[in-house]
Parts: sequence; structure tokens; C-alpha cells
Amino acid sequence: MPKAAWRQKIDGRWWRFVLATRGAVGKEYRKAHPQDKSGDPFDGFCHSAKRTIYICDDLPPDATELVALHEVVHARVWDLDEETVTELAESQHEATRRLRKRQRQNE
Ligand SMILES: [Zn+2]
Repeated sequence: MPKAAWRQKIDGRWWRFVLATRGAVGKEYRKAHPQDKSGDPFDGFCHSAKRTIYICDDLPPDATELVALHEVVHARVWDLDEETVTELAESQHEATRRLRKRQRQNE
């Protein structure tokens, strides 16, 4: 597994962010969830026991940002349902995307 791309605090605790191949991210997920046989590809995975967020390194920048936001919500509120996590991440992503666009127009 590659080294952490960076570390940051979430809710006062240090978390590692790892950019890794899709296969490596899937492997980490399957190790943590051996009962899940879905085999779906994962864009990201929040491993709460390891306080590590894995993000696939084959995504375009915009999708990478959305995955990072999504996994940070999981890290902070681990028992939140998937639908709400997705909605929060997408809302934040949309707001920051529009803010950046506006800031570029004002340059
Ligand atoms: Zn999720």
C-alpha cells in the first residue's frame, strides 16, 4: 500500500489519506469487510479502524475531490446513512465548484 499522500485532523484525530490503485483500494475494503462479496469497484473507502481514507488514483480531478469529500463525511459521522453522506458530499462539491468558478471569473 502506498504511503499517505497527506494527513489531516478530522474531529480532532489524525487521519491518513492514501491515493492508491483501484485494485489496492478494493483489497483494503475486502480485508475490512470479508462478508461483502459484491465485488463492486470502489472509488474510495473510509477505514475507520485504521483512520485511513483510500482514494482511487485513476479518477479525474473533479471526481477525486468528490470522493475525498464523501469519505471525510464518513470519517466524521461514521453511522450516517449512505444516502445522506452522498447528498452532503455532493452539496459541498457543487458549492465549492461554483465558488471556484465565480472566483476565476472575478480574477
Ligand atoms: Zn459512502
